[in-house]
Amino acid sequence: MITVERLSKRYGRHTAVEDVSFHCEPGTVTGFLGPNGAGKSTTMRMICGFTPPSAGTATVNNVDYRQLPNPGRQVGLLLDAGAQHPGRTGRETLTLSAKIMGVPRRRVDECLDQVGLNAVAAGRRVRAYSLGMRQRLGLAQALLGDPRVLILDEPANGLDPEGIYWMRGLLRDFADRGGTVLLSSHLLREVEAVADRLVVIGAGRVVAQGSRDELLAGT
Ligand code: ADP
Ligand code: ADP
Repeated sequence: MITVERLSKRYGRHTAVEDVSFHCEPGTVTGFLGPNGAGKSTTMRMICGFTPPSAGTATVNNVDYRQLPNPGRQVGLLLDAGAQHPGRTGRETLTLSAKIMGVPRRRVDECLDQVGLNAVAAGRRVRAYSLGMRQRLGLAQALLGDPRVLILDEPANGLDPEGIYWMRGLLRDFADRGGTVLLSSHLLREVEAVADRLVVIGAGRVVAQGSRDELLAGT
């Protein structure tokens, strides 16, 4: 579960996020939709404590993200696809993460399999990956600790239509097994088929939120 209450972020005189509130419940996918620069990444980074809010609070499973014991086992993050070290292979990237998180080594192959990176791809260095492959690797990293919550910033960027279809199935299954998903995108078509609820943000403010059916009925 994710609870965001009246989060704001100002950079000097510029307001990136203003008074944003929403909840993400277990068993649901929440689509966080808005144009580039609307404040999605800033909000997600505040939820995870990477960006300090100017005002407001956010909790994950009822506590401040930074106070979660072993956060990687509870929350899978994909905030910056391509932030993986370019000189490591996909498998090395996951093996190192698994070691840091204290998850069993077998999870590396399970997660590579789950995101559709085969042995050849997993053996290549990240610098040779396409954005879509880096998104898959980032998702594998997010899934490694078998978390109950996923926070994914624009995970569909760089995926081809088949990849988007595949990810939709993965996220739907994750939520149907009781997981909580917060998924951002600047494209309605990337979230409408999978999200149960939508939070629409524009210029830092929530402009609409509700069930997908409710919101799309008005479009
Ligand atoms: P989105 O993820 O929806 O594309 P962002 O959260 O990245 O939007 O950005 C929201 C606004 O905040 C933009 O106007 C952006 O330029 C600004 N912003 C984001 N990060 C910073 C920063 N570190 N310093 C100054 N402005 C920032
Ligand atoms: P090592 O595994 O050798 O400790 P480091 O993490 O110190 O590697 O990084 C080695 C070099 O790679 C540094 O110059 C760092 O800035 C650069 N680097 C690390 N991650 C990235 C990235 N995602 N994109 C580009 N350069 C990176």
